[in-house]
Amino acid sequence: MSTKARQYEAQVLRREQLSAHFVRVVLGGAGLVGFESTGIPDEWVGLIVPGQFQSRYYTVRSWDGSELVLDIVVHDVGLVTEWARTDVVGQTVTITEPKGSFALPDSAGWLLLVGDLTGLPAMARIHEEITASGGPPVRMWVEAPDVVEGYLPADAEVQWSTPPGDDASVLAAIVEGIEWPEGEGYFWMAGESSQMRAIRKHLMREVKLPSTAYDVMGYWRGGAVRQPRAVDPGPIYRAGKAAGKTDQQIWADYDAAQQRAAQEHTGAAGDEGAQQ
Ligand SMILES: Cc1cc2nc3c(=O)[nH]c(=O)nc-3n(C[C@H](O)[C@H](O)[C@H](O)COP(=O)(O)OP(=O)(O)OC[C@H]3O[C@@H](n4cnc5c(N)ncnc54)[C@H](O)[C@@H]3O)c2cc1C
Repeated sequence: MSTKARQYEAQVLRREQLSAHFVRVVLGGAGLVGFESTGIPDEWVGLIVPGQFQSRYYTVRSWDGSELVLDIVVHDVGLVTEWARTDVVGQTVTITEPKGSFALPDSAGWLLLVGDLTGLPAMARIHEEITASGGPPVRMWVEAPDVVEGYLPADAEVQWSTPPGDDASVLAAIVEGIEWPEGEGYFWMAGESSQMRAIRKHLMREVKLPSTAYDVMGYWRGGAVRQPRAVDPGPIYRAGKAAGKTDQQIWADYDAAQQRAAQEHTGAAGDEGAQQ
């Protein structure tokens, strides 16, 4: 869980408006020499924009050895959001080395991908790479404020839906409505964190997927559920590893600890699954 990652300085070569809420930023330049993809199709980098110290994570939509493409959701307010709204071409940003998490078992006969607009770049890349390598059939559900025309191939099996608000999501309800295919497969999902917590419970308790058959990641936190204090993941990770838990189980322990911290702070009671 080291936070020390190699960093690269990159120039913004181009900026392109993909849709009302989605901006493509293409990075390049000599600073990217030595940057190497992990080959994992949901890989992400930390992005630090000029004048900032904090990073935000973005999926590597593509890397061809000289140009690195990031597709950025522009929401209401935010450090990278506000930067990406402006004419950023020519500016220098810092990115960290990539990491990935997607782990499709060889035995998977189906692949389901679910996400909001922040998850769409990873979904598109996963779809592209799995289809090209002759992997299992892919079905997708995307919750986005606007359909991003041409972003996914015309023959992709995808259902688009609109979120109930800018800072809101009903992805958990969408997943609860899925009719699960027969046999072994793999489920990948990313979006607002409270929705992801509800989904992990649903997958474990109702669908009874083994932890190796899914990867569910919180990509951002809605304001209403922002945590009042950070929970140090280190002790939870070490305790989980010592107990022989999988990464998914450790993530679930970490989510539960964060929620306890939030409830202690607000005095709120109730089930974390009831957040829609
Ligand atoms: C592994 C990983 C990969 C990711 N890949 C991508 C990607 O490819 N493209 C992408 O756009 N994002 C991606 N994200 C999500 C992105 O890191 C967050 O949305 C991030 O918080 C945006 O930073 P910001 O500076 O714009 O807003 P922040 O300064 O972090 O937040 C400001 C406010 O905006 C709210 N907010 C944050 N994100 C959203 C959102 N998406 N919608 C509505 N409100 C929001 C917050 O609750 C907060 O109140 C990824 C996250 C992870 C963990």
